[in-house]
Amino acid sequence: MDIEQLKQLQEIDVQIANILQEKNALEETLKGDEDAYHSAEEAIAEFDKNYGQIDAERKAKEAEIQQTNEMIKRWDSRLKEAKSGREYQAFMREINGAKKDIGEIENAVMRMMEELEKISKNKEEEKQKLEEIGKRLQLVSEQSRNRITYLAKQRDELDLQRNTIAKNIPSALLSMYEQIKKQRHVAIVEVKKSVCQGCHVNIPPQLFNEVMMNKRIIHCPHCQRILYYVGDDEAQERKQKRNKKAV
Ligand SMILES: [Zn+2]
Repeated sequence: MDIEQLKQLQEIDVQIANILQEKNALEETLKGDEDAYHSAEEAIAEFDKNYGQIDAERKAKEAEIQQTNEMIKRWDSRLKEAKSGREYQAFMREINGAKKDIGEIENAVMRMMEELEKISKNKEEEKQKLEEIGKRLQLVSEQSRNRITYLAKQRDELDLQRNTIAKNIPSALLSMYEQIKKQRHVAIVEVKKSVCQGCHVNIPPQLFNEVMMNKRIIHCPHCQRILYYVGDDEAQERKQKRNKKAV
């Protein structure tokens, strides 16, 4: 009977599945942290870039203010030498226009400074985030990586064991096992008190007897899993009583 070997195979498969689950979870967490770290780095770089651009604009605007102020000074001195009322009016118009321009530019500079402040604040927050993730990564990543390496090694060992067992199982049975496993995750299940432990449906008495006899592979009629019987204390007792009576 191959059921024992199938059970061993399944035990290994369960261990492999557990290992994969743990490994995937660790890798996912690690990757999540690494991704978050890189995004924070990218965000900071983006803030720096924006800051640089806006700050350059601000400097250009401030230079513009200075130039306009100098122009106003020049007109102001020419104003004093104005030869006619018309000339005087013309200089005044220029001066007033320039002052209005300066007011607008100053407003623009103010808005830029507010923007720059906002960027600095956001960058500071992002830097804090980066630091937190960095600390966590430093603390956990080596541990996680070691564990992942260990799990991978364990998986390799289990694969070897699995191959050894699988070699002794007829290929038709093995592929049947694989197919049920693919659909139901667990391919071989115990029958306890006539109930399939895979789907929890009762199996017919005749079939249950056959499972107990363990002479051929029996499938649960409901879920198609392969059934095996370990025997409970109650059944053992009944069996013993029957045997005593027989004697
Ligand atoms: Zn079942």
